[in-house]
Amino acid sequence: MTDTLIPELDDAQSEVRDLDLRTQLFIGGGFREAASGRRYVTENPATGQPIAEVAEGAPADVDAAVAVARAAADSGVWSRMDPGDRKRILVRWADRIEANARELGLIETIDAGKPIADTVGGDMPETAACIRWHAEATDKLYGQVAPSPEGTVATITREPVGVVGAVIPWNYPAQMAAWKLGPALATGNTMVIKPASTTSLSLLRIAELGAEAGIPAGVLNVVTGPGDSVGEAIGRHPGIDCVAFTGSTEVGRRFLHYAADTNLKRVLLELGGKSPQIVFADAADLASVAENVAMAIFWNMGENCSAGSRLVVHRSRKADLLEAVLAELARWPVGDPLDPATKIGALISRGHMERVLGYVQVGRDEGARVVTGGQRVLEETGGWFVPPTIFDGVRNDMRIAQEEIFGPVLSVIEFDTEAEAVTIANDTPYGLAASLYTEDLNVAHRVARDLRAGVVGVNAYSEGDMTTPFGGYKQSGFGGHDKSVHAHDQYTETKTTWIQLRPRE
Ligand code: NAD
Repeated sequence: MTDTLIPELDDAQSEVRDLDLRTQLFIGGGFREAASGRRYVTENPATGQPIAEVAEGAPADVDAAVAVARAAADSGVWSRMDPGDRKRILVRWADRIEANARELGLIETIDAGKPIADTVGGDMPETAACIRWHAEATDKLYGQVAPSPEGTVATITREPVGVVGAVIPWNYPAQMAAWKLGPALATGNTMVIKPASTTSLSLLRIAELGAEAGIPAGVLNVVTGPGDSVGEAIGRHPGIDCVAFTGSTEVGRRFLHYAADTNLKRVLLELGGKSPQIVFADAADLASVAENVAMAIFWNMGENCSAGSRLVVHRSRKADLLEAVLAELARWPVGDPLDPATKIGALISRGHMERVLGYVQVGRDEGARVVTGGQRVLEETGGWFVPPTIFDGVRNDMRIAQEEIFGPVLSVIEFDTEAEAVTIANDTPYGLAASLYTEDLNVAHRVARDLRAGVVGVNAYSEGDMTTPFGGYKQSGFGGHDKSVHAHDQYTETKTTWIQLRPRE
């Protein structure tokens, strides 16, 4: 159904001209300028041209947002609302996001460089689905009664943690926000959320739709602005009880310092990855494996935390698989993100493009061989385009195999034995996701167990769906999980209530 919503290029271009963008902070149920009055420019990554000026928040604005979020939390306007009513409001919100998927998708595409087929057809329906899934759980979460001794009653209940701060990245701006908003709001918390400064526009509109759906003023607040002022202020704020961060491992580490140095707020970290895709000698249907391999690394321009950036392939199948992946790439055109045929849009910024191309140079210097891609394209557009890039002859100790590039760059590494494949797969500081391809059930189960990763796809590149938790091992994060009912645990406190009964007279 969503496919019919994806506009043709001409329509998209004229609809973009008519967009009425929200560019102010969203605090206490309404839009306002930053206290300083400052604004910054947000650019279209596909043209390098400015789209809008967005309010540049600062710590004073975080103070204002936390004050209203705290007041809303303390008043119980949200946490003590009949769960059925809270559910209805959140479901209505999800419906509105879905109904506005085309507008929101256009906003996301011009702000983040993502292909329109992905934003309208994927990101926005997924954002709505995430909020709806958690909303529907709101009045289905039960507490427990403990098996306490005669004469006592002991209940174990979950209560909202209070004010949740969230700081999110630019790669899936709406969806990463929804992964926090859905469970944190469903469990009765109030929130102060900061989008990445490059991609604030979709979340501001989504917050407005939330207010229209009936989320009370002060429950959901959005403060836009730079990470090292707004993000740090959220991390350090004594009025915030829990901070959910999705982003790089480097910045995640800072949030632990912020919490340790201030109020010991709960810290939830979803960080980077360097995920392996292991293809065993018996993998069937190489065309289908190649399709998965391409999706795993080139979807969203490789700007994906769970990107399968290392192809760990049995020596006997490497040549055939590479050929199949190269054939598959014919179906991955690079181009204008507003064109519905485009599969590879623009990287988020010039700085990020230069970082990705810097890694390509590192790979060459390390002795790996570029099979395809490896240079900037479509320079005449003024945008930041890098095509699918594949390195062959990579050793796992090379920097391109160890460090997160966060771009469309695949490293191909050969192995001979199952044990060797597992060792290579686990040999990075990260442990977010992994996939493996084999027809042997024994290999599948053995290797899935051996992989130190939070999500393992067997004969698929998949993060699962909304019913399954998502989170990493090792330096890919800890503290909780996004998605599924597991996400609710991280935004709630566990309370024991022990009641002593008087004996019968
Ligand atoms: P980033 O760490 O640079 O920024 C993430 C957020 O943190 C942004 O909102 C940014 O403004 C803010 N920030 C930056 N510096 C800060 C500071 N000093 N203090 C507080 N906040 C600060 O990450 P990014 O470049 O936006 O996103 C890419 C990273 O996100 C990659 O490492 C990717 O793997 C990771 N990611 C992880 C997941 C996951 O679920 N595990 C999902 C998406 C992205």
